[in-house]
Amino acid sequence: MRIIVQKFGGTSLAKPELRSRVCDIVASNLEEGISMVVVVSAMGRNNDAYATDTFINLMKETNPSPPPREMDILMSCGETISGVLLTSQFWARNIPAVFLSGEQAGIVTDGNFGDAHILYVDAQKILEHLKEGKVVVVAGFQGIAENGELTTLGRGGSDTTASALGVALNAEYIDIFTDVEGVMTADPRIVKDARLLDAITYNEICQLAREGAKVVHPRAIEIAMQKSIPLRVRCTFTDSLGTMVANQMPGADNRMRIIADRMITGITYTSNIAQIMINTGNLPDTRGIELKVFKALALADISVDFITVHPESIRFTVNIDQAEKAQEVLRNLDIMPDIEFNCAKVAIVGAAMTGIPGVMSKVVEALTENEITILQSGDSYTNIWCLVKREHMEKAVQALHDKFELGCK
Ligand code: ADP
Ligand code: ASP
Ligand code: MG
Repeated sequence: MRIIVQKFGGTSLAKPELRSRVCDIVASNLEEGISMVVVVSAMGRNNDAYATDTFINLMKETNPSPPPREMDILMSCGETISGVLLTSQFWARNIPAVFLSGEQAGIVTDGNFGDAHILYVDAQKILEHLKEGKVVVVAGFQGIAENGELTTLGRGGSDTTASALGVALNAEYIDIFTDVEGVMTADPRIVKDARLLDAITYNEICQLAREGAKVVHPRAIEIAMQKSIPLRVRCTFTDSLGTMVANQMPGADNRMRIIADRMITGITYTSNIAQIMINTGNLPDTRGIELKVFKALALADISVDFITVHPESIRFTVNIDQAEKAQEVLRNLDIMPDIEFNCAKVAIVGAAMTGIPGVMSKVVEALTENEITILQSGDSYTNIWCLVKREHMEKAVQALHDKFELGCK
């Protein structure tokens, strides 16, 4: 049986005419005798009626720290609504289809509400429906823990559902349909001359996704990579081929073209970050101060990032939602930190940049030419990131994109 998994994001499903386009895309594969599994996100974005954010806001109106179990049950409703509607739309065209929840699709996760990891997929039920000639529509983003509790897979997690099903069903490929042409050198909403990458390695897209390019969930890539299932990121509204994620591509004369990691793949950003700085040189007693600070934050369940420890100072970042709590924890240790509440991280990502001289110098040049202060920086073998004020984020992304000449010529 030839199986393809196609996932459609929220903006691709928001209106009946868009869902009709989705039905067209799926129907064209059925005509070729392919068995189709369709994974759906919740319809729309932000404050649209049945979008995930709407459910989250609704819950937070009742309680700013809602119970995680109930939060997951409510958050998962968006995918159920869109999946049921799409299934019904298939039937309206006389295309046999069936809707399955994450649990019914056999997606078994750990018990971590809000960010559960898929442990395994029991695809038996899906296969039975496919054999009966039905399109199987699966609610993305949701699963079932081994103790029977409903879980969600973290924001953007419908991509993860699609990948896990692609691997479990040994699909020919997985399509991630969204509202942009494919994976680009930067978010096209910020960088107008961002360029489409027609082919990209699993490694490259994984790094981009981990550094904030939310076009695909990083876990979706990690899962597809395990079985080398090709993954395409494509636009629902155009016929463009989008981006092929693989390590090789069929070329002329049946020769395989190897896709290599680029020096710089793209520029990413993450906002909603607060930077916390402790000037330990000013404290009366600095013995074991690092341990005290990080232990207290850990006990308060605060996740820290971008940690820089010097003999005279400690710097790190937290998610903006946790900044006030972190401040409180430090005050209880008699530490008055300096906090820069509105920060963003911009990063240049490129799996082959390691060992190439001059990359950091270009980063600094790009930002200083635009009068953007670097609050902190760091690097790994696949990226260099800089913390900047949130108000400078867009300008910084564009400046880096220009400096590394990533745009359309
Ligand atoms: P969906 O609902 O289809 O899953 P998402 O909003 O999760 O859509 O992801 C698509 C969005 O990712 C695009 O609208 C785009 O603004 C953003 N994006 C961020 N970085 C990139 C990038 N490098 N290439 C393409 N899109 C990007
Ligand atoms: N609806 C979920 C979210 O907004 C999952 C997804 O869209 O992939 O995060
Ligand atoms: Mg998404």
